[in-house]
Amino acid sequence: MLFQSVIGQDELKHQLRQAVREGRIAHAQLFWGAGGYGALPLALALAQYINCTNRSDDDACGSCPSCHKMQKLIHPDLHFAVPVNKVDKNDKRPPVTDNFLVQWRAAVLANQYLNEQQWYEALGIENKQGNISVHEAAKIMEKLHFRPFEAAYKVMIIWLPERMNIEASNRLLKLIEEPPTKTLLFLVSEDPTRIIKTIRSRAQSVHVPPIDEAVLVKIKTEQDGIPEAQARKLVRAAAGSYGKLLSLAASDDDNRDTFTFFVLLMRRAYQVDGIALMEWAEELARTGREYQKAFLTYAVQMLRECFMNNRRTPEVTYLLGDEDVFAQKLSPYINERNIETIYRAFNLAMAHLAQNGNAKIIFTDLAMKMVKAIRR
Ligand SMILES: [Zn+2]
Repeated sequence: MLFQSVIGQDELKHQLRQAVREGRIAHAQLFWGAGGYGALPLALALAQYINCTNRSDDDACGSCPSCHKMQKLIHPDLHFAVPVNKVDKNDKRPPVTDNFLVQWRAAVLANQYLNEQQWYEALGIENKQGNISVHEAAKIMEKLHFRPFEAAYKVMIIWLPERMNIEASNRLLKLIEEPPTKTLLFLVSEDPTRIIKTIRSRAQSVHVPPIDEAVLVKIKTEQDGIPEAQARKLVRAAAGSYGKLLSLAASDDDNRDTFTFFVLLMRRAYQVDGIALMEWAEELARTGREYQKAFLTYAVQMLRECFMNNRRTPEVTYLLGDEDVFAQKLSPYINERNIETIYRAFNLAMAHLAQNGNAKIIFTDLAMKMVKAIRR
């Protein structure tokens, strides 16, 4: 990853490059910022810059042997420890990053701004949380035991160290305090408050702020050719996260369908059309489980927007086009008297789906609750 491919963050890039040029590279650094701000791409760019044999003041060269391997994430001196979990329950090995390196490289090369959930989806464990276990800690120690093979510095990137349990954290404490020579530890966190304090205090803090909105608007208008007004709305919804901006744009197509399901639910609930609602539930039940979860999440967001509209705080809504028009029409019916009941019904549906309940029953139940709630 070159610094020039990291979106925005000019000031931070400048500081990181300067530290390298002046030979003050901290051995343990904690890059932290919300998902999609670019903490991981920055750590990758720094690793590449440090080890590039032909770097300029601004960036790595991108073409020396070190850069080639770094860019493909296959450099023998670049290591990763990321949260994982068992994918196959018959697999007797303790789950560690090495078992999933192929998936990790593919996921990161496809999107360096990926978030935790996207990684679990890529792994196929989206219903489980990953963790960085004591087995992983042992692997980390083992890998950092030897001097770098060919690079100036060996780099260990620990992505989401907040997923390390206490046992693993304690195991790594000494290492983070005094990494072996020519070894760098980059911790890349979305939520540093959940990392144990003894670790947090031993790493140099590198705060990654939200990406400048103007930079993101420019990407949407110039690269993606989206009209400026729409780009601004999308960017505002992404709140400085390029990762979020990517998923907002990607979900635009899927959203058409989800939007239709949402409109049908609300319209038929308002008309108290039981038979049409049963058909609605059946049709939604025929889609995949992940789609159904995405629908529920989307519907809750829409309802929140309607409620905000109702409260006359439209400046906090982010809807576009048809969605905006429909939300305006629906908003008088989403108010203080029913919003709690509605949220509860959706949360319950979500919980039952997560427990693999019968989708048709879950959505029929949800639809009937909407009939009652919407007329309040
Ligand atoms: Zn290079």
